[in-house]
Amino acid sequence: MQLTGKRAIVTGSNSGIGLGVARELARAGAQVVLNSFTDSAEDHALAAELAAETGASVRYIQADMSKAQECRALVARAGGCDILVNNAGIQHVARIEEFPGEKWDAIIAINLSSAFHTTAAALPGMYENGWGRVVNIASAHGLTASPYKSAYVAAKHGVVGLTKTTALEAAGKGITCNAICPGYVLTPIVEKQIPDQMKTHNMDRETVIRQVMLARQPSGDFATVEQIGGTAVFLCSDAAAQITGTTISVDGGWTAL
Ligand code: NAD
Repeated sequence: MQLTGKRAIVTGSNSGIGLGVARELARAGAQVVLNSFTDSAEDHALAAELAAETGASVRYIQADMSKAQECRALVARAGGCDILVNNAGIQHVARIEEFPGEKWDAIIAINLSSAFHTTAAALPGMYENGWGRVVNIASAHGLTASPYKSAYVAAKHGVVGLTKTTALEAAGKGITCNAICPGYVLTPIVEKQIPDQMKTHNMDRETVIRQVMLARQPSGDFATVEQIGGTAVFLCSDAAAQITGTTISVDGGWTAL
């Protein structure tokens, strides 16, 4: 298989896009480390289920991506990696003047700084092996903005900048770094926004989805975790060896508007 023998870490991968990416990497033959900040029986069972489903080696390692030390320890405990997918992320929606400072700090730490720390920890091993893939899960909000998402938009624009710098520093050494920029994907982070939007707009669930969320997405459909996972596998393939320092939008046309 395409990624047999490659060791992958996917941060924030016990649900949503991270889990979808981990599944596609495992299906392509990679050994996968799942991660989140929890350490429950369910987390470890999830790794066992994914291993049984794909035939790949899958482990779960707890590490809190809001903490620099734990980001670096995740890479060390995994024994390094060939493929690093920086996916962990959270969201908070409020006007700038009402945005809690601690929410700003948490979003910058988890959505942006964690990618710096894991990348710093993973690169030396990739340089040694002369091969590596860093895939950062940014967002359409890494390329464009929406009101009330100041910290998220700032963090995701930061991820795109970090992606370019990582790519330049690693260029010519068999290592690429790219960002995937999804539009709306129906995962828990999006589910949590629906009740608030229903209240704000006085609409039912279906109307909020169609007229508010997917209004930005010309295709009229959510992107899926399988599509994000497939894009990550492509970025790890030989066909993508000269693709580096760029963004790939999986957003149904959002950023073409
Ligand atoms: P999700 O809430 O399902 O997943 C977030 C993951 O991050 C979970 O596994 C969670 O456990 C983990 N996480 C949160 N805080 C953490 C911490 N402190 N340490 C370690 N792990 C932590 O949401 P998702 O939609 O799957 O989001 C995944 C990524 O995709 C995020 O970076 C998000 O910004 C990005 N994204 C999502 C969408 C979308 O529409 N769903 C669109 C664009 C970008």
